[in-house]
Amino acid sequence: MLHRRSGRSLQLATLGMVITALIVPAVARAQTNITAGAAPDHPTVTVAGKSYTPLGILQRNMGTAADQVEPFPPHRIVGNIYYVGSRTLSSFLIVTPQGNILINTIFEANVPAIAKSVAQLGFRFADVKIILGNHAHDDHMEGDALAKQMTGARVVVMAQDVPALAAMKPGGKRHPIDEVITDGDTVSLGGVTLTAHLTAGHTPGCTTWTTTTAENGKSYGVVFGCSLRSPNVITPQTEASLNRSFEVVRALPCDVPLGDHPAEYRMLEKHARLQPGGPNPFIDKAGCTTEADIQEAMFHAILDEQATKH
Ligand SMILES: [Zn+2]
Repeated sequence: MLHRRSGRSLQLATLGMVITALIVPAVARAQTNITAGAAPDHPTVTVAGKSYTPLGILQRNMGTAADQVEPFPPHRIVGNIYYVGSRTLSSFLIVTPQGNILINTIFEANVPAIAKSVAQLGFRFADVKIILGNHAHDDHMEGDALAKQMTGARVVVMAQDVPALAAMKPGGKRHPIDEVITDGDTVSLGGVTLTAHLTAGHTPGCTTWTTTTAENGKSYGVVFGCSLRSPNVITPQTEASLNRSFEVVRALPCDVPLGDHPAEYRMLEKHARLQPGGPNPFIDKAGCTTEADIQEAMFHAILDEQATKH
């Protein structure tokens, strides 16, 4: 697709990066409402009967300022995997006999609520031994320093996101980085193994984690998806990264799709269908590629728009 680029669109891309750099911190700042300045309201794509714009996707992901902080009722998703995040920002707890793993500490301001959700489920926040994250934006990983302070957990991060994490210093705290991993590395605790898949594009170190869990004697592939949301302006490097990432995520063994924002796996809708003794709505093999379908369609629409503008 590189052939579609003209020198002018590259110039525009560079300007766009500057604009994006100015906009992104405002979007990611703790508990803000997403306004029309954060992303454009074009192009529009329709996937499975629903229409999306970049702004619509961002609003869907972030919700209101209140949605970002308000704890969602903590619940078991499948097997030993639990939800402990807010209404629009995911945090997952994986329970093992040797301590627990936390994926995404959200904003620092969310950490006490996460700890409370863990306790509500009957577990101890102090038993978190490993902290992982999906990507180096503060609405997913700003809480690492406080969560480590409260638990003593080891913070494991993807190499390509280290620079962004090192710059993330809530209240001037140094971002803890105890172990740096690369694509394909695994993290194990108490019989649970998680595999890190580099799915770059949204950030350079965007990491999709996979594991397996068991429920009622059956084994399930669980995918903790990293956002595949394209930036407003796509550089050649991001284009190459996202093309690779869509291929990677589509090939992952998946029965239970999850994401760094609950909207990416329609958590509210599925949670509402939870019934004692009923089928587990989070087991959704058919839904494993839905988010990739939406984001890939938008990615191509943005590329087309960029190409035809000049
Ligand atoms: Zn993000």
